Amino acid sequence: MSPSSLLLASPRHAVVCGGSMAGLLTAGLLARHFERVTLVERDGLVDSAQPRKGVPQGPHTHVLLQRGLDIAAGIFPGLREDLRAAGAQVMDMSADCAWHTAGVWRKRITSGVTLYSQTRPLLELRVRARVAALPNVRILDRQEVAGFLHDEARTRVTGLRLRAPGSTEETSLVADLVVDASGRGSRTPQWLEELGLPRVEETRMEVDVGYATRLYRRPAGFNPGWEMLMVSPELPRLRRFGAILPIEGNRWTVTLCGWLKDHPPTDDAGFLAYARGLAQPHLYEALKNAEPLGPISSHRLPHSQWRHYERMSRMPEGFIVVGDAFCSFNPIYGQGMTSAALQVELLGQCLRRGLGGLTRRYFARAGGVLKMPWLVSTTEDLRLPELGDARFPGSGFLQWYGERFQQLTTADSEAVQTCMEVMHMLKPPESILSPRLLWKVMTGRHETAERARGPEPLSVRASSSRAA
Ligand SMILES: Cc1cc2nc3c(=O)[nH]c(=O)nc-3n(C[C@H](O)[C@H](O)[C@H](O)COP(=O)(O)OP(=O)(O)OC[C@H]3O[C@@H](n4cnc5c(N)ncnc54)[C@H](O)[C@@H]3O)c2cc1C
Repeated sequence: MSPSSLLLASPRHAVVCGGSMAGLLTAGLLARHFERVTLVERDGLVDSAQPRKGVPQGPHTHVLLQRGLDIAAGIFPGLREDLRAAGAQVMDMSADCAWHTAGVWRKRITSGVTLYSQTRPLLELRVRARVAALPNVRILDRQEVAGFLHDEARTRVTGLRLRAPGSTEETSLVADLVVDASGRGSRTPQWLEELGLPRVEETRMEVDVGYATRLYRRPAGFNPGWEMLMVSPELPRLRRFGAILPIEGNRWTVTLCGWLKDHPPTDDAGFLAYARGLAQPHLYEALKNAEPLGPISSHRLPHSQWRHYERMSRMPEGFIVVGDAFCSFNPIYGQGMTSAALQVELLGQCLRRGLGGLTRRYFARAGGVLKMPWLVSTTEDLRLPELGDARFPGSGFLQWYGERFQQLTTADSEAVQTCMEVMHMLKPPESILSPRLLWKVMTGRHETAERARGPEPLSVRASSSRAA
């Protein structure tokens, strides 16, 4: 494509910067509202499910919560079927998952909360295929956004300046709406300053989370009594999380991670030793004889960050921010893609009243969309005394109640059901404070006196079969 052909001046043209999950969902939504949509992505995009440079978190386990998938499938009808056909493993979040948390094994029920489990590159590939099939969307890859175009008064963003990565030659892309979906590294804060606006306020939570992920062949005939295994930390004492999830290609994705420098190593022996340090031995035992299918990938996230565009006294018209560019969560809680989907859903609601005043309407409500997932994840992170400065009024009670509630999930189906629905953002977090659940938490009276026992460790099974 010649640079001059990018010099477009059309009404009803929307441009999205960033072709990852937030950008793809946004492009799919905007295609319903605009004559034309252009999605600009710095990376070269290929037609296969591979990690890529612009999404360094791509090799790591990504859980798309049910609410996020519901929104994505609303934008792209049939997406679930596409994922399943591509090999996604479909599981009930409770019945199929052995989950150790807050010192107990969670009771397993058929919750109806469903997880489609696949690698992150496969998810992105399937969603991108849906975007590429839309007749009024053009995907412009190998193009980097270098800054805004704006009106003379600097009150409206009128498009983007583009260049090929590594080049200094710029072209212009004119648009009625510009959406920044360029992730954590977004340069919108600097570009707004160039328009004469103050620096956007930012809240950070210095979680210093380290991830290590490896793919394994799913062992034939292995029947441990679970499809998916999660061993959660017991903050602040145990700072390690581990998970095994089945994915396409008869494989497992295995992720280990930890807070505040307790990061998993990336050598074979260190990875296994770290797994052995989880609260339960099951993950280590499942891995020790399993066949690895590649190297161990690592990723470090120094802090969660929320750029408070919703607090700006003024934002340029014709401009929206979505996804990690707005708020990037501690990934351990699996909220990033769903939170991006919620912002895209909000954008769709705001667009029903047209383009006039869209920026103001969107940012006025976006803070409310981000508040709950941020509260849920930071309340957990704040169990770490090192993060104590960031405590807020009521956080102590929420932590105390949250832990008692998690313990209730070992013996109470209603608690498990509510927990799954809240975690998957199908119900608001305050649902765990319903009068009945509050009574159960406070009195310790629950459905059965018996606690869920969890799967037997393989070592125990082996020794009892030897004894028999
Ligand atoms: C280790 C890890 C694990 C995670 N696990 C989960 C999980 O289990 N569940 C979950 O929901 N979320 C998870 N997340 C978060 C999730 O990855 C993000 O929330 C999600 O990808 C949405 O991000 P995004 O599209 O806003 O930005 P990104 O995914 O960061 O993508 C930004 C895109 O913009 C492009 N770009 C950047 N700058 C420019 C530019 N100037 N011009 C053109 N293009 C540009 C990049 O190449 C990239 O394609 C995890 C994150 C990490 C780090």
